[in-house]
Amino acid sequence: MFDIDTIVRENIKRLKPYSSSRDEFNGEAKIFLDANENSFGSPLNDRYNRYPDPHQTKLKEAISKVKKIDSTNIFLGNGSDECIDLLFRCFCEPGKDNVIISPPTYGMYEVSASINNVEVKKVLIDENFQPDLAGIKNVIDKNTKIIWLCSPNNPTGNSINKDVVKKLMAEFNGLVVIDEAYIDFSSQPSFLNELNGYSNLVVLQTFSKAWGLAALRLGIAFASPAIIQFLNKIKPPYNISGATQQLALEAISNSYVVKNMVNEIVEQRKNLAEWLKTLSIVESVYPSDANFLLVKTKNAMKVYQHLLLNGIVVRDRSNVILCNNCLRITVGTTEENNFLTQTLLNYSNEQ
Ligand SMILES: *Cc1c(COP(=O)(O)O)cnc(C)c1O
Repeated sequence: MFDIDTIVRENIKRLKPYSSSRDEFNGEAKIFLDANENSFGSPLNDRYNRYPDPHQTKLKEAISKVKKIDSTNIFLGNGSDECIDLLFRCFCEPGKDNVIISPPTYGMYEVSASINNVEVKKVLIDENFQPDLAGIKNVIDKNTKIIWLCSPNNPTGNSINKDVVKKLMAEFNGLVVIDEAYIDFSSQPSFLNELNGYSNLVVLQTFSKAWGLAALRLGIAFASPAIIQFLNKIKPPYNISGATQQLALEAISNSYVVKNMVNEIVEQRKNLAEWLKTLSIVESVYPSDANFLLVKTKNAMKVYQHLLLNGIVVRDRSNVILCNNCLRITVGTTEENNFLTQTLLNYSNEQ
């Protein structure tokens, strides 16, 4: 049975966390003179002169209802990127421990590893863009603390085979993190359904993609209460701003808007994929469970430049391993997609 205490860094176990004013007194009072705030107010109508709830209790309750996951299984970060960094700092001893990633995938796992001086072992995904189970098992050693997987994967767009992940979670004495930034666009079920069965699973989600709130910086880590407690212990006390907490609550109460947008994006994704396949400059459009398409072209750099000349910026992934001549194109609004397809058609006809 997986025991979280065996993989937490010793200094984190010993750490006495910062105790904020609101930790030391969080009852009702007439006058708060304990946090050196400005009691006069602020230049803003909504004030914001008081420190926000460091535990984000209301927001977690709202997320708990939406996701049908207990609040004790929820950690909130300043974007998923903060969750990624805190997982490294909690579990990986710099200069000693290592993690495994499966490229091509999201770049932040490796960047965050480097910042924390943690070795990264790379095991490429296979020709079906699935994690290489045997290859991963082969490089696991006693200092391997985290296996990072992304589903649907960025930049390939596909979902990961659940059985592969289940085998890893069952056999690995470390964390398996599944980054589900794009899960709302997927027809596959979330790994949140597996949280009860696997105490070494961490699922990352974000408000940056389907929710349309990239500027708020709000990411979620779902995991066992034991893991969540360690993340709470090391996070900056006020990592989620008062504005973010307030606006995210407002967004959740209007979540039907998200459902409608996601339906529209999934529909547009299908149309755009079908249309791109008819172009002579396109070699393949990979199946996508996300809000973008990975498109293999005849000459990605030239297509990229042509789009840019017409004011359209896509992501050139042609230098990424296994992504030769590939562009990653986000599904836009109907108008944006129409302009994109017209521009590509003009270019294709010139070839
Ligand atoms: C966009 C993206 C995120 C989002 O990160 P935030 O910090 O929450 O904005 C996380 N993971 C992947 C794979 C992404 O593509």
